[in-house]
Amino acid sequence: MSIDKFRVIAVDGPAASGKSSVSRALAQKLGYVYVNTGAMYRAVTWLALEKGVDLSDAAAVERLLEDSRLEAGIEEGQSCFRVDGVDPAEALVSPEVNSGVSKIATLSCVRTRLVEMQRQYGLRCDSVMEGRDIGSVVFPETPAKFYVDASVEVRAARRLGQGLNDPVALRDAMDSARKSSPLTVPAGAWVIDSSDMNVAEVVTEMLRLLQPLGILPLSE
Ligand code: C5P
Repeated sequence: MSIDKFRVIAVDGPAASGKSSVSRALAQKLGYVYVNTGAMYRAVTWLALEKGVDLSDAAAVERLLEDSRLEAGIEEGQSCFRVDGVDPAEALVSPEVNSGVSKIATLSCVRTRLVEMQRQYGLRCDSVMEGRDIGSVVFPETPAKFYVDASVEVRAARRLGQGLNDPVALRDAMDSARKSSPLTVPAGAWVIDSSDMNVAEVVTEMLRLLQPLGILPLSE
């Protein structure tokens, strides 16, 4: 089966820019599978914390990955990710994971393993995949790329509103500065500033931009 059989809509952007909400809503409108790659980096961070592995010790994290079973799949039309059979769910947004995830995301052993799993979705289903490097590294060939941004004040306020303790500015700085697949606006991406837009407005704009590619909502 060729990778061209399935469409990938890449949605990248900084922390709390609203990409998760709009990606989930867009996937629902299109009947595509929503894939949250941040949750994969978070799950590996959770695993390392559980096992007491130093997040900046590349050799120890690599050993941990070798000894663990990582599974990315689709269940009832939804993507799922498990480590040793467990979906860490709420633990993915704990303060410890929030402050450790960008550290572990700098490690190339982690990125190589997760990127490989993310690309497998391109062989299995149409997807809306959100992250930091989807349009630049994971699926650079897709013509459907978005970069969703919002002002730093709006993003910090969104996280506070969710009651989450999340150092968004620090994560952005680390994600943008790292050597391996840094956060960047992918070549050819449509940039949407969601500072003054709600989820429905961003999705409407995305659907308008996707229309010339023949990507249409289910109801049309
Ligand atoms: O999207 P989310 O904020 O949950 O991502 C958590 C962290 O995972 C990011 O701050 C980044 O360090 C890392 N990440 C990444 N590449 C991706 C997705 C997330 O490096 N494709």
